[in-house]
Amino acid sequence: MVKYKTREEVELIKEGAQILGKAHGEVAKMISPGVKTIELDIRAEEFIRDHGGVPSFKNFNGFPASLCISLNENVVHGFPGEYELREGDIISVDCGVYYKGFHSDSAYTYPVGQVSDEVEQLLKVTKESLYKGIEKALYGNRIGDLAYAIQDYVEDFGYGIVRELVGHGLGRDLHESPEVPNYGKRGKGPLLKEGLVIAIEPMINLGSRNVVQEADGWTIRTADRKPSAHFEHTVAIFREGTEVLTTHKYIEENFKF
Ligand code: MG
Ligand code: MG
Repeated sequence: MVKYKTREEVELIKEGAQILGKAHGEVAKMISPGVKTIELDIRAEEFIRDHGGVPSFKNFNGFPASLCISLNENVVHGFPGEYELREGDIISVDCGVYYKGFHSDSAYTYPVGQVSDEVEQLLKVTKESLYKGIEKALYGNRIGDLAYAIQDYVEDFGYGIVRELVGHGLGRDLHESPEVPNYGKRGKGPLLKEGLVIAIEPMINLGSRNVVQEADGWTIRTADRKPSAHFEHTVAIFREGTEVLTTHKYIEENFKF
């Protein structure tokens, strides 16, 4: 069952999303060769708690950290740890904040120092595909319209779209209905109605779309071990227009590529 939100509830999600955006900004300042991924997690958790939020992912179904940190061939749900970032890596940082009863969720993938041209393009196109999806996430459209927009955009580049993992509704729970795939058919799927809040999150592979789960029971990586990128925003659908509730502003102020 889809739980539609009131304007007041969406305002609370937006407040939490500001904390989330700024936590991402703190992480962005730290992305450089030699940094341990656990240091990013510690900083994000500290920032979120200092601002009255709770990291949504920590202890979610037993997940051990505040950030999902997925490097290179890892798609999503990786753990932070002792690994030190190296020049040429890409790192996906996914984070959620629980604040005043509601969750917000967003992700960004960074290059560490100089990456190859083909990897830089993967990051750029994946980020652009998120906005292609948001453009079609309009009141009266269907999930398939935004899903198709993402698919249509990235497949022109020959990339693989992960199908096993999708975006989602969210609110009082981190994962609510409906599912929001990154591939689909125009005019199909659930209607986008007033008060629907969804996380749109393309997960795009440089190579094939196939993924496998690592033995840790969480980390999802590409089957061919080619890199994968992930960008995410939480958005709210209203008749007057769609609002992007999360922000990458604080990332982009602190990190240029
Ligand atoms: Mg996320
Ligand atoms: Mg999500």
